[in-house]
Amino acid sequence: MKVVWTLLLCIVLFSSCNNKIISLRICDLAQSNEHISHFDVPEGYSSTCREPINYAPDSNYPLEYYKQEVRINVHYMDAEKGKYNFDRSEGELYFDQIMENAIMRLEINEKMRLPEGNETPVLAAYFTYVLRDMDTEVGRSPYAFHKDDDLYWFLSKGKNRNNSRKEVLIKYQQDEGSVLNIFIQPTHPDSVASKTYTTDITGIAMGTTVKIAGVYELGLPAWQHATNLNHEIAHILGLSHSWYRNDGCDDTPPNSNCWNSSGKPPCEGPTSNNMMDYNSSQMALTPCQIGKIHRNFHKQDSKQRKLLVPQWCESDDFQSIVIDRDRKWLGSKDLKNDVIVKSGNTLEIYCRVSMAEGRKITVEPGATLKLYNAHLHNDCGDTWEGIDLQSTKRKNGKIEMYGKCSIENVIK
Ligand SMILES: [Zn+2]
Repeated sequence: MKVVWTLLLCIVLFSSCNNKIISLRICDLAQSNEHISHFDVPEGYSSTCREPINYAPDSNYPLEYYKQEVRINVHYMDAEKGKYNFDRSEGELYFDQIMENAIMRLEINEKMRLPEGNETPVLAAYFTYVLRDMDTEVGRSPYAFHKDDDLYWFLSKGKNRNNSRKEVLIKYQQDEGSVLNIFIQPTHPDSVASKTYTTDITGIAMGTTVKIAGVYELGLPAWQHATNLNHEIAHILGLSHSWYRNDGCDDTPPNSNCWNSSGKPPCEGPTSNNMMDYNSSQMALTPCQIGKIHRNFHKQDSKQRKLLVPQWCESDDFQSIVIDRDRKWLGSKDLKNDVIVKSGNTLEIYCRVSMAEGRKITVEPGATLKLYNAHLHNDCGDTWEGIDLQSTKRKNGKIEMYGKCSIENVIK
């Protein structure tokens, strides 16, 4: 059944004598209009907003998919006497090298080795790490060096294991929730000295914090810690281990979680190179895994979104997102630019779209904007310009709304 819904047509903005384009600015749901109609959602409709693949970045649309920046800071933990970890003069440089290598690996992203003969696409991860800004007011660096005999050490095995204990995080983490805190803890020196204990590169992810160990005491080049860092951060960003069947992704096959191919069962033939398995490569993320991360980045109030530099709040009037073919936006988006739906084309929006301050969606004469339970707003506490619905004598821009749609934060 067609229900006539209404929109408040805020202001007639613009009427040109040359091409006789009439512009109506849509800023709120309110009154009816001949160009705007409301329908029930079509039969068989189901929400697309939670599907990871609908967030997998598409390099054909760089204004819609840009590299997200995760803010981090770093805590080096050491004993009071200070001999089990890097000091400030070495630690900053060493972690810079780990981070640089980890970011490089995210950008390379290798093709999946499993399943054998797969044609899983290789996408760029589209996220990176940035050290949080220096806090100049209190002179606080993104690097902290703590000395604490009780809390400096890390053990993931044995009766004294403390890897999942939170005391060190509670005591030392900074900017909780808005920065990913990374704790670099040495393996307990008694265990390092023990002949029966194997000191590993290891770590654990909890909430918005990561602990990693093996960094100083193994004496390895910095790059060897990069995949461990990526693996633990990916847990924070929402990924599970991928050798299990239930990791939420069809493109990460269950596997024997082999470190590498040994030629003997179960580690014969190609073995996993996925970042979320334990293997000597950890260089591959699948489209579903990348989509999951970006779904979390786009979910309002998610812990992952709060860790990001909110680039979507930086309005960009230099370029526009031009819809010059029929498009469906099946996942949420956070946009910095104007959107222009060109005449003769249809844009379908299925989820949430944040528009940066001062930006607008233009629906040209002869273009159609279809909204399916869509939510258009500004997620920065600012206002945007709303929908510019254009028509001429011969052609109308149209808006069709299906289900419960909302438009918020438009300047009045
Ligand atoms: Zn893990």
